[in-house]
Amino acid sequence: MAKYIFVTGGVTSSLGKGIIAASLAKLLQARGLRVTIQKFDPYINVDPGTLNPYEHGECFVTEDGAETDLDLGHYERFLNIFTSQANNVTTGRIYQTVINKEREGAYLGKTVQVVPHITDEIKRRMVLLGQNNEFDIIITEIGGTVGDIESLPFIEALRQLQWELPEEDTVVVHLTLIPYLKAAKELKTKPTQHSVKMLSQEGVHPDILVCRTEESLSVDIRRKIALFCNVKQEAVIEAADAPTIYEVPLAMMREKLDLICLKKMNITQYKEPELNKWKEFLDKLKYPKHKVTIGLIGKYIELQDAYKSILEAFVHAGAMNECKVQVVNVHSEFITDENVSEKLSNLDGLLVAPGFGHRGVEGKIIAVRYAREHNLPFFGICLGMQMAVIEFAQNVLSLKGAHSTEMDPNTNDPVIDLMEEQKTITAKGGTMRLGSYACALKSNSLASEIYGTEVISERHRHRWEFNNKYLTRFEEAGMIASGKNPESDLVEIIEIPSHPFFIGVQYHPELKSTVENPQPIFVHFIKAAKEYAELKSSARTPLLQGEMI
Ligand code: GLN
Repeated sequence: MAKYIFVTGGVTSSLGKGIIAASLAKLLQARGLRVTIQKFDPYINVDPGTLNPYEHGECFVTEDGAETDLDLGHYERFLNIFTSQANNVTTGRIYQTVINKEREGAYLGKTVQVVPHITDEIKRRMVLLGQNNEFDIIITEIGGTVGDIESLPFIEALRQLQWELPEEDTVVVHLTLIPYLKAAKELKTKPTQHSVKMLSQEGVHPDILVCRTEESLSVDIRRKIALFCNVKQEAVIEAADAPTIYEVPLAMMREKLDLICLKKMNITQYKEPELNKWKEFLDKLKYPKHKVTIGLIGKYIELQDAYKSILEAFVHAGAMNECKVQVVNVHSEFITDENVSEKLSNLDGLLVAPGFGHRGVEGKIIAVRYAREHNLPFFGICLGMQMAVIEFAQNVLSLKGAHSTEMDPNTNDPVIDLMEEQKTITAKGGTMRLGSYACALKSNSLASEIYGTEVISERHRHRWEFNNKYLTRFEEAGMIASGKNPESDLVEIIEIPSHPFFIGVQYHPELKSTVENPQPIFVHFIKAAKEYAELKSSARTPLLQGEMI
């Protein structure tokens, strides 16, 4: 029988419930337990796929093609496991299921209500992953902040579940904030007391309080929190701000968060945590020997969460190369032919980000041209790969009006075109080419050197594709398709063999990068950037395409 840990949040949003949940899961996994995490989000969208990145950050895509919350990315990066559609549930999905059942007549004669019908469906999903003896522990992160109207049914479902299950089968971890008031020079516990009170009024009492704080919690403060919030003193956990999220599991281990959970669940069979690989990674991360500057060209750069997985993949790849990766955000909307050199000449590598719609596209094309002509390591992801194709068509094949039909539906040269199966689709949610697909690599290509294998599998999220009618012309002019889907023949990877490092991928490699398995293109891209930086410092002037070293 699986046991269940619930993570709720109080006082304010953005306290990092996802990181705390992932850290706890990491520790339990390191102790030999089989753990998974799921996220319940209280909004009404069926999934976050239709949300603007400004609203909700990146949309994380799982192997099975589910468009999910970015916290699932943290779960995968920390645990080195795959999650799936079942690991992310929203209010919208719960209601959709209940309403569909109502239409099918499943509740004939009954009034369908929040309690019990919605709460029953939430409970069913809370325990779903624990049914097949696949996991010992299921951690459920409940999105939102306690006291929100939207999260009430989730807290009520949790209350019922605690009532139904044996005492030792559930643990509630409540994450709160202990603010430091500068003027009073004091940490304040009142917001935490209030949020615990609110949670208790909803019928759930926390077993453990994880307290986010900028200052260390003294014994007195811990005692005060424990007394007024009615938890054991050792269950008041300090979660001080950490220099990197990857430190948090070790900080939680020092505070014994995992042991307190295990004790409450009466789990006695576990080993000393095995975290050697994790610590090695942290060591490399903290003491880099080199440094590179990478330009991230995108249009959502004001919000770091929009490119979360890319930024984390750089952290993993940087550590692997013992190299600090400084990411400089460059807003694609403001890149012009006149200022491109000034904006990009200090970089050691250029990554053109994924995206949708017309805004900022011209700047991306100009940036690609700069990288291609200056031998600057280039990595294009999804829309970034499509921009590289368009730039090559316009400036090398001299197809001046070449474009993607996403941005220019009437272009004479649609080098990027809507996929055949997308042409009849009008509905928006979950209708892109989503999830993992196979890709066969061309031998002796950069891609095959990077992956060191013949067939790979990566995750997708797009509607447009390389137009194969143009492939011969591209290949003759020096841009090759080095990866293709073996069934559909869709081009998945392009590269320019005469360039030191120029690669574009139609898929999202960043989604599969984890601490234990850094994504190989990112690793090689950082290596190429390191070499470029060394060359630059010895040559001083950047080399031009075709110039001999
Ligand atoms: N807008 C492009 C498409 O749908 C690229 C999508 C992306 O970058 N994820 O094909």
